[in-house]
Order: sequence, then C-alpha cells, then structure tokens
Amino acid sequence: MTRRRVAVLGAGIMGASTALHLAQLGVPVTVFDHENAPFRGASRWNEGKIHLGFLYAADPTLDTARAVLPGGLDFKDQVEALTAIALGPVTTPADDLYLVHRDSVTAPDAASRYFAAVAELVRSHPDAHRYLTDASRSGVEPLSSAELSDLADPAVVVAGFRVLERSVDTNRVADAFVDALDGEPLVELCLGRHVTGVAPAGERRDRWRVYTTSGRDGDGPDSDAYDGDGPFDAVVNALWEGRPRIDRTVGHRPDAAEHHRYRVSLFVRTTTALESRSAVLAVGAFGDVKSYSERDFYLSWYPAGLLARADAVDPPPVPALGDRERKRIATEVFAALGDVLPWVRNIERAPSEVRVQGGWVYSQGGGSLDDPVAAVHRRNRLGISRLGSYFSVDTGKYSVAPTLAERLARAVAEV
Ligand SMILES: Cc1cc2nc3c(=O)[nH]c(=O)nc-3n(C[C@H](O)[C@H](O)[C@H](O)COP(=O)(O)OP(=O)(O)OC[C@H]3O[C@@H](n4cnc5c(N)ncnc54)[C@H](O)[C@@H]3O)c2cc1C
Repeated sequence: MTRRRVAVLGAGIMGASTALHLAQLGVPVTVFDHENAPFRGASRWNEGKIHLGFLYAADPTLDTARAVLPGGLDFKDQVEALTAIALGPVTTPADDLYLVHRDSVTAPDAASRYFAAVAELVRSHPDAHRYLTDASRSGVEPLSSAELSDLADPAVVVAGFRVLERSVDTNRVADAFVDALDGEPLVELCLGRHVTGVAPAGERRDRWRVYTTSGRDGDGPDSDAYDGDGPFDAVVNALWEGRPRIDRTVGHRPDAAEHHRYRVSLFVRTTTALESRSAVLAVGAFGDVKSYSERDFYLSWYPAGLLARADAVDPPPVPALGDRERKRIATEVFAALGDVLPWVRNIERAPSEVRVQGGWVYSQGGGSLDDPVAAVHRRNRLGISRLGSYFSVDTGKYSVAPTLAERLARAVAEV
C-alpha cells in the first residue's frame, strides 16, 4: 500500500512501533497524540519487565505465559532494529527474584510448579536465545532459607525462586523511540490533539476521517477532522486508555470487557552506587523493586500506587498529584517495601532524585489482585482486531508491543 496514508492514534510504544514498522515498509504515517511529545504515558513510566510469563502464576493454564512469551523473546531484536539503542546497558543485570508472600493468591507449591512449567516453556522455545540474555538455559532455582532470610522478612516471605527474567529502563527506551520518530521522514507527528472519534469518509469502510480537538483533555475549541492530506486509507487505534471508546465511534466492539486502572510507582536515581537486586513479591497486590543499574531503581507498592480504577469503557478521573501527595506516596512505598525487604532502606537512605510517575493499565477483565479467580490474573486477551481498514490493537503488555506492531504494520500495508 505504498504512497497511501495511515493514521496511527497514540504515540506510546504500540503506536510508535507500528508507525516505525510502517515507515520501514515505505508507508507514510501520521501519528496523533494529545500530549505535546510522544511517550508521556504508561510506555515511559512502567517497570519494563520483559515478560517470559513468570508473573502470571495465578493463571496455571499457562495461557497468559504463552500469550506474552513470543513478544518477550523478540523484544530486544525488535527495539534495536527500530531505534538506535543497544538494550544491554539498560537491562537489569541480575536474575529476578520471585518472593512468595504469605498472603499470595497462589500457594508456594503451586507457584513452584508454575515457575518450573514456564521455565520449560521458555527453554523449549526456538527463539529462547534471542531474549535479553540467552534464555535457552532458563531454569528455576529455589532460594535456600539462608538466602531468603538475608533478603526478606521470613515471617512475610515463605518461599523464593531465582528466575532468568529481565527488565529494561523504560525511560531510556522511550528517549530512543522519540529520537527514532523524529528522525523518520515518513512519520508525521500530530501532537497536542485529543482524538474524539473516527468515521468512514465514504460509503465503504476503506477511507477514514479522524476527529480531534486541541489540548490535552480535548477541551480545546475546534472539533474538525484533521485534513492535512485528506482522509486516511487506514487507521490504527493504539490509544490504550480509552481505546474502546474510539472503537465504538466506528461501531467496532471487539473487547470482551473493559477495565482501567491508574498506577504510580517510584523512579529513583541515587548518586551513590548500590548493590543491583531485582525482586517481585508474588502473587497478588504487593510490590517490587527493579535495579536497572547500581543507581537506577523502580519501586512499587501496589496499594499505595493505585490511584484510580473502574470497570468502564472510559478511564476514570485521576486525582491531581501535588508535591505533598507525591511525597506521601513515596514515603508509603519505601516503608511498605522496606518492612519486607530491609535492603530497600539503603535505596531510601541514599542521596537521590525520586520521581513519582505512572500511567494507565487497561485490561479486558478486572477484579482485585487479591482474588485468586479474578479475570485480571489472566492477560491473554490482547492483540489486533479490524473493521475494513480500521484496526484496533490491545497492547496487553509493553513487552509484546513491538512484535505485535510488526504483525499489525504488515496487515495494514496489505490493505
Ligand atoms: C505502573 C505500571 C507498570 C507496568 N509494568 C509493566 C511491565 O513491567 N511490563 C510490561 O510489559 N508492561 C507493563 N505495564 C503495562 C505497559 O506500560 C503498557 O502495556 C504499555 O505501555 C501500553 O503501551 P501503549 O502504547 O498501548 O499505551 P501508552 O503508552 O499509554 O500510549 C498511548 C498514547 O495514547 C495517547 N492517548 C490516549 N488517549 C488519547 C486520545 N483520546 N487522543 C489522543 N491521544 C491519546 C496517550 O497520551 C499515550 O501517549 C505497566 C504499566 C504501569 C502503569
């Protein structure tokens, strides 16, 4: 479909990867976002776990692990081909420690069996060697009780496992994507425009108008179709939060259910070097620590960082965060994590810059992470749907976006 024009809605990792893949296929793209720069949302402010599937022990069917694994194994090659970044230096250096909390929704024995099953899934995958570190030797190593009590409060953490899983520093990856978008002549960025709807430009569903208003929240004055180059031959809805609302404007309703959550975490840069350790308290509404380097950390405590949630097609309002509120959240996160993982206090004590930032989580199914049968534990409903040349994509996870985008761009280019 060369020399035709595609609109991509949303400039997070999904929209940006799709636009760059389309440009590589020779297709000109206009990317819309209501922020004044790409990557201002979840794709900059997340933990960057490049999922192999270990996190989803509450889905013992392995459906979620199978859904996220291929994108995780492909992530490094994809991002390095789309941008100028080498991921090695921004990847967590150590294996991830899965520490089973005494209130875990998955019992330690079941968690142990689950981790072993995922490790086998990873090892036997033909692309295992392409992961951020060679995963063809992926295994699970139970932590001894001495190791456990060195790491965590033994009254709270009842078992621990070392698994070969990595995370990337999403801020550094975001900067690389922004540079790649800026340097790609076939990509036009249309920023500061809030998308309100899409409509067919004629009788058939093969040309589309994108409706926008100016301003971050769409409360600007004008409500005209963007007409830079006339109607678009294809539209890709990669908006993440609020995506299903735009789908409905064209009569497309692919999602089984809609759930929005807004979460913040701490992004910490210390001026002194500390030991690199990454650990997740599993399985439920707890927290985790990522160490991307000896000075760059991510810390989250789920109850302190969850600011809004709704089982609704529209994202719910998020309370404004002033300095006092950010400080309170940071204090709560450090205290809750430090109670269970005493070494976190070294991060809190080190001279540092602490940013409280976050983004939306969208999933087709909600419920509470404390509930073992809640739909939120099964995250295998993700991917691409279409209505004529209108495409909608549920990213599902940061780690699968670039791979999904390649598939999406090929389908769009064939229209
Ligand atoms: C705290 C947290 C931790 C997470 N940890 C992980 C993790 O470890 N691993 C993982 O794989 N995933 C993780 N995720 C999920 C991950 O961040 C998302 O799956 C991913 O970033 C979504 O990418 P996206 O491009 O679809 O959405 P976004 O990055 O949100 O991009 C969507 C873009 O659309 C724009 N937009 C939205 N509505 C409109 C509109 N109406 N008009 C114009 N523009 C609009 C937004 O400004 C935004 O730039 C986490 C999420 C959070 C919040």
